Amino acid sequence: MMWDGLYASAFEKINERIGNTGRVLLAYNTNIDAIKYLNSGDLKDRIEKAGKEEVLRYSNELPEKIRSVQQLLGSILWSVKRGKAAELFVESCPVRFYMKRWGWNELRMGGQVGIMANLLGGVYGVPVIAHVPQISRLQAGLFKDGSIYVPKIENGQLRLVHPKEFNADEESCIHFIYEFSRGFRVFDFKAPRENRFIGSADDYTTTLFIRDEFRKSFEEIARSVNLAIVSGLQALTKDNYREPFETIRGHLEVLNDRNVPAHLEFAFTPDETVRKAILDLLGNFWSVGLNEVELASIMEAIGEKCLAEKLLTNDPVDPVAVTEAMLKLAEKTGVRRIHFHTYGYYLALTDYKGEFVRDALLFAALAAAAKAKLGDVRSIDDIAKAMDVPVNEKAKPVEEALAREYGMEKGLAEVDGYQLAFVPTKIVEKPKSTVGIGDTISSSAFVGEFALKNG
Ligand code: ADP
Repeated sequence: MMWDGLYASAFEKINERIGNTGRVLLAYNTNIDAIKYLNSGDLKDRIEKAGKEEVLRYSNELPEKIRSVQQLLGSILWSVKRGKAAELFVESCPVRFYMKRWGWNELRMGGQVGIMANLLGGVYGVPVIAHVPQISRLQAGLFKDGSIYVPKIENGQLRLVHPKEFNADEESCIHFIYEFSRGFRVFDFKAPRENRFIGSADDYTTTLFIRDEFRKSFEEIARSVNLAIVSGLQALTKDNYREPFETIRGHLEVLNDRNVPAHLEFAFTPDETVRKAILDLLGNFWSVGLNEVELASIMEAIGEKCLAEKLLTNDPVDPVAVTEAMLKLAEKTGVRRIHFHTYGYYLALTDYKGEFVRDALLFAALAAAAKAKLGDVRSIDDIAKAMDVPVNEKAKPVEEALAREYGMEKGLAEVDGYQLAFVPTKIVEKPKSTVGIGDTISSSAFVGEFALKNG
């Protein structure tokens, strides 16, 4: 089969060259994830106790923030009903306390920066400099060994140390992740696929706290990196985004002056003002990564309501609607690369051409399958083993639609002067976990692309 061959050769090429990527800067969000596997009976009891009618209201429309237990439970239902992920800030202390008492099944590295640091630095051997807003002992212990560094200023000098050697006792920022499996039932709702809802009880990533080391020594840090991945803007609100956005704009200017391509890992951003501000900033990035919910939310912010709706109706997501949305986004912002991922396939729209864009997507799909299968990718061998996971059959009609509409061949087409790259992904039937797969996909594809370009 054609795709099996393309998968194998993409893996081989990137595996050989990933060491040539250079250093990657990862900013700004790292936290601790507390994962709770939802139990249907338990959830039902909690909803009834909290007041079913009010809870159900929030299952139709997400609140902006979580201020009550009803909103928490309703938002969980919102995700279950759709099989879609969502993340909201938990403002209320009593709700935070409720979540703590509800408990968790396990603790894991969280935040896009933390997840990507462990994958790039701990698995691929690509050195990374990570922004970790608070380095508690618990947080530091979640970093893998390997080439992962945090800046530390000692006697006025900037040093790079592994987080475990940072030795400061800062706060623990905990995010509560409520996971459900495909077919999970509560009342009349049945989850069409596995996913989760996240309630973040953390005041550092939500305000996009930026450490002094990054404020004072950013130029020096930027001088030592070849690529950057930015994430963590999603929890900001119209009341607090201005100051961090100024800092980020400054950081991007420094990176752009040094020709360091920066990728923005978009994440579900409930606040529309912030979403629009991100759009204004997007032209300063080389690349952006997002899923269908995130792309739809952007289309909504630019007044493309119909297109936004189309992105959320079909399963698998209509690739022509996705392409139209990506074209609009590229035209509007000037961002050079848009990487879209959804359950079953990925697309990348780039203002440059080459098979390496598609090959990097294939590598990312292998990494995603390994992550879904194992929960944690321990070595590049784990990724090689994901080759056994079959290519998603449901992506066939997607591929056919792209061939019909844009004359796509072997996952590549030209659309309005851009290159459109497509890959059908490998879907793990019974995933161990789905947390952080998006980050795995985006960082593997971005770094993989530059590994091939530079190699
Ligand atoms: P996250 O926020 O966890 O990073 P995203 O929604 O951004 O999540 O990304 C999830 C992506 O993971 C989906 O778009 C899909 O491509 C991939 N994925 C989800 N479930 C599986 C699975 N069982 N097997 C392989 N890939 C999966």
